Order: sequence, then structure tokens, then C-alpha cells
Amino acid sequence: MDKKGRVFSGARPTGRQHLGNYLGAIRNYVALQEDYHCVYCVVDLHALTTLQDTEKLREWTYEMALDWLAAGMDPDKGTILFVQSHVPQVTELHTIFSMLTPLGWLERLPTFKEKVRQQPENVNYGLIGYPVLMAADIALYKADTVPVGVDQAAHLEITREIVRRFNFHFGEVLVEPQAKHTEFPKVLGTDGEQKMSKSLDNHIEIAATPEEITQRVMQMVTDPARRFRSDPGHPEVCNVFALHGYFSPNEVEQIERECRAAEIGCVQCKRLFAQNLAAYFAPLRERRAALSARPDDVWDVLAEGARRAEVIAEAVITEVKDAVGLPLRR
Ligand code: SF4
Repeated sequence: MDKKGRVFSGARPTGRQHLGNYLGAIRNYVALQEDYHCVYCVVDLHALTTLQDTEKLREWTYEMALDWLAAGMDPDKGTILFVQSHVPQVTELHTIFSMLTPLGWLERLPTFKEKVRQQPENVNYGLIGYPVLMAADIALYKADTVPVGVDQAAHLEITREIVRRFNFHFGEVLVEPQAKHTEFPKVLGTDGEQKMSKSLDNHIEIAATPEEITQRVMQMVTDPARRFRSDPGHPEVCNVFALHGYFSPNEVEQIERECRAAEIGCVQCKRLFAQNLAAYFAPLRERRAALSARPDDVWDVLAEGARRAEVIAEAVITEVKDAVGLPLRR
């Protein structure tokens, strides 16, 4: 069966990936490869909106690509995997889109307001233009499908509005992408309170060794009302239990029963979780170790991805410039 259409998705380079990245994005990226032509991008230009991370950009791009490849994002399945800035046509399309996008559309976005609150000392032009660059990322590859979680839905709507506006003014050149609503669970960190995040140091890396996994899991906050081993637990408020749901599917019902009846202690429950987590990611760790022995191979995969992406991008940007009426270079 031929694949359905083209998916585009990108993520900012954040280095070694954690369970939140995996459950929220990577496993979907891997699964989508079976049904779609996939274009996946490390969006390094987007990362420049928070300047403090720039010295890590290369290292984090490499580490993230390594985890993506080890997790099964696979150019042999036709997937194009590349770094955003390696295909500079995206910045041309971004400029053209920025002329078409009313400022009001961007100012009203909750994510922009949130960023202004987070970094009031650096409210730059790129920050408000972030969704326009994202629209350019998607439209440049004529992607018809974009996997989105709830918090990305408004951004994709801006992309659709920009594409519609472009096509209205200049003809039906670009493809209006559809949202593919995928499960993007909010994964809490080891503190059990905040979203799992590297910057909060409450994360568990997917490529962590079994010892590192055990160490992190043992720090996890469980049901706060369960002070003694003999206290019945409330798995519905316990983050360890929530994650057992993904990584211990065969044991989760028993854990729930035993937790409520105080037949299992949190230490034992965490040990089981750490064990299952380490086993689940064992193949990934092996592939990662093999890949990291040849770092050049990872950069070669990204370079080949950029070459393939650029073929599409160059054709589309030429079509766009022609439609807009820009004088074409001979
Ligand atoms: S026994 Fe397991 S599910 Fe129950 S509170 Fe402890 S860690 Fe959570």
C-alpha cells in the first residue's frame, strides 16, 4: 500500500531525550513512518529565540539525532531527517510569510504571551515570528499532515491561515496542512508536580543506563498520603503508577490492586518500574552505543536528509517566488 501523504514535524534541539520527549513525540514519529512519508527536522533556528542555549546547539543537535535514530526514526523507511538551518530556503519562505501575517494573529497567541512572561528581558522579533517560521517549515515541504497535541493546535491554525492567505492572493500553490491529533500525554517529572524537563532536572533519559534509571526512579515522588508501608495507596495520584501504564502494561492492574490494598510498598513498586523501563529501552541503548561509536555517520545521515529536503524545498520556493511575482534569477 502506498503511504498516505507527507507528515512534517520538528523539535528544538534539547540534547539527550527523556521520557517526556519519548511519550510526547518520538514514539509517534516512529509509528507514523509506517503510513506516511515523514519529514522530521531538528529546528535549530527556532532554538535561537532563547539565546542562552546557543553554545550547546551543535552538541544537543547531535545527541538528539542520536536518540531519534536509536529510537527507530529511519531514513531506510523513506524518512527525511535533517537540521532546519541546513535548508536555508525556509528563511526565504519565512520572510515572504512574514509580509502576509497580521501582527494581531501572533500577539494573541497564548504561547507568545507565556514567553513574554518567561523572558521579559528578551522579547525579540524572532519570538513573535516563531509561528511564522513554523508555518514556513511545514509549507516548504507541502506537508499535508502535522501531528499536534493540544498546546500546538493554535500554532497549526496560524499555519493554515497563512497558507490560505497566500493561496488566496497568489493562487493555489501551497498545501493547507491538517492536524493529526495524536496522544501527547503530559508527562510529569520525578518531582510528580511539574512537566518533565531537562532544565528542571526532574527527567529520566531514555538512553540512561539501568543504574542511572534506578537512581532517578528511586527519587520519584509517589502518593503523598502514603506515609507508611501499611497505608493504602492512591495510584490515581501517583506518577510512578501513571508511567507503569506505559512501561508495565502486563502488571499495571495487579499494581493498582496491590497498591490500594497496601500489599506492595513504594520501594518495591519503583524497583519494578525501573526494571521494566531499563528493559524497554535496552534495544535503544544498544543501537545508540553502536551509532555513537561513529559520530560522523550521524552527521552524514543529517547531511543526506538535508540534501533530500532541499530538493523539495528548492522546487517549492521557486514556485512560491514565481507566484508572488518576484523576478526569478536566470
Ligand atoms: S505502590 Fe506504586 S503506585 Fe502505589 S503509591 Fe507507591 S509507587 Fe505509587
